[in-house]
Amino acid sequence: MNSKDPLRVASGQSRRQFFINASLGIAGVAAAGTIPGMATLIARAADPDKKLGFALCGLGSLSTNQIAPALKKTRSCRLAGIITGTPAKAEKWKAQYNIPDKNIYNYETMHRLADNPDIDVVYVVTPNALHAEHTIKAAKAGKHVLSEKPMEVSVQKCQQMIDACKDASRKLAIGYRCQFEPHHLECTRLARERAFGDIKIIEAGFGFRIGDPTQWRLKHALAGGGALMDVGIYALQATRHLAGEEPMSVSAMESKTDPVKFKEVDESIVWQLRFPGGIIAYCSTTYLVNGINRYTAYAEKGWFGLDPAYSYGGIRGRRSDGQEIKADEIDQFAAEMDNFAQCILTNSPSKVSGEEGLRDVRILMAVYESIKTGQPVKLA
Ligand code: NAD
Repeated sequence: MNSKDPLRVASGQSRRQFFINASLGIAGVAAAGTIPGMATLIARAADPDKKLGFALCGLGSLSTNQIAPALKKTRSCRLAGIITGTPAKAEKWKAQYNIPDKNIYNYETMHRLADNPDIDVVYVVTPNALHAEHTIKAAKAGKHVLSEKPMEVSVQKCQQMIDACKDASRKLAIGYRCQFEPHHLECTRLARERAFGDIKIIEAGFGFRIGDPTQWRLKHALAGGGALMDVGIYALQATRHLAGEEPMSVSAMESKTDPVKFKEVDESIVWQLRFPGGIIAYCSTTYLVNGINRYTAYAEKGWFGLDPAYSYGGIRGRRSDGQEIKADEIDQFAAEMDNFAQCILTNSPSKVSGEEGLRDVRILMAVYESIKTGQPVKLA
């Protein structure tokens, strides 16, 4: 296997190694002296008032309603620029956020970011199948990249993103906001410390009833898939982190009750994962109904879990011993962006690295393969 082989991040690592990777990230980190601009960034790290300039690429619902407001709550980031294909949005954001003309780009001009020291990070918030294109352009312009989930729509495109950022000595992270959410972190701690003994079974699911039948989420070329790619990925992430190791195999089945609306993408999927240590997981996702938004880990001496689990706020945790899983309510996007800024400023690896994003996409692709073949798919 050569260094660019997507399968080189295949599962097979130990449970202990999984937790080390999860807490530290495994992205290769070059020495500070070898990264262009690193001296400046380290100097900035010494100044707590300095903030990294973020440019949002794609000004849709998530950028407008979550990320831009969250940037104001960060310690180490600021909204410095925008990349949009819609001139009217550029005008609106320019006025609302006081963005100078020189920091406004479109998808064709974003290579000129290379000449703009105001911008340190590009946050890619475009449809799934455009993440690689925009990540690669940003990396080639010398910018660090935070890409929304799912990382991309194929293993190959995920690998291209990793390679582009490595070639440019820039950092890459994926917008896995739940990895910074305190209730999730507490459940991962309970799992890691075997607070209820060894976990035997995990149940996880996330879905919602999708509206507008014309949106890109229902177009395969832009979304890469349906509910599974969009929100099933949250259940998969949670399952992997609770299990603390990578699954060995997956089997899945799909149901399609509205073949017109869901002509191009999946509507509802259930899938099962088998882990090397004996844990089995059953997961679900759908674009058909509201209410599935949870996970539970069932262990030898009890159970614990979250419901709702993946919302932007209001997450609730329960344990079989009657204790509530109490944790602070935070802005998950602000925490995610501050963490990425710290990784850049201190030249440390991200726990939501490109490699982590690729691991999920590889399993999602195996889910689709299992549906197609009607057979379990081996992952290891
Ligand atoms: P959206 O449709 O509201 O916004 C997408 C943006 O991309 C729009 O501004 C659109 O103009 C732009 N765009 C550029 N080229 C396009 C093209 N060819 N076709 C369509 N749109 C194009 O979507 P969103 O909800 O903001 O989602 C964007 C990304 O963020 C997706 O990858 C999604 O999975 C992810 N997301 C993550 C979370 C989270 O909680 N982390 C939540 C929602 C969305």
